[in-house]
Amino acid sequence: MKNCLFCKISNGDIPCVKLYEDDDILVFLDISQTTKGHTLVIPKEHFENIFDLTPETITNIYKHIPKVARAIMKAFNAKGMNIINNNGETAGQTVFHYHVHLIPRYNEDDGLRVIYTNHMDKYSKEDLEFIANEIKNNI
Ligand code: 5GP
Ligand code: ZN
Repeated sequence: MKNCLFCKISNGDIPCVKLYEDDDILVFLDISQTTKGHTLVIPKEHFENIFDLTPETITNIYKHIPKVARAIMKAFNAKGMNIINNNGETAGQTVFHYHVHLIPRYNEDDGLRVIYTNHMDKYSKEDLEFIANEIKNNI
């Protein structure tokens, strides 16, 4: 897609530091290096985010993620890894070509902070059932 940064990277118009590629996917270092080894996995074909993806494309992407994740862990003796995919501006997506972040973790102050707020006390069992039904009705 014209004017898409990751399409330009995937077709070679913009350089990247490449780790792996095949006909369907490209794996390269994220320029920001949130932590050492921060890597992106993208489909070569343009999809804006998870809401557009086909089962074939998500399969092609995730087929490669375990081996890339293991390689990053081994290369830098990382202690853990966050695998993150932001979908939509509100969720923090800034590049609108689907991508998965592989962010190795070294300690709590290594550059990434993930905070989950616990609202367990605000939802009854009935509330949870209502929420589940609303979602199920849309699958
Ligand atoms: P998002 O915020 O959409 O989930 O992630 C976009 C990511 O793309 C960011 O982590 C950002 O550092 C990375 N990024 C932005 N521009 C470039 C670039 O030109 N090259 C590379 N390798 N990564 C980029
Ligand atoms: Zn694109």
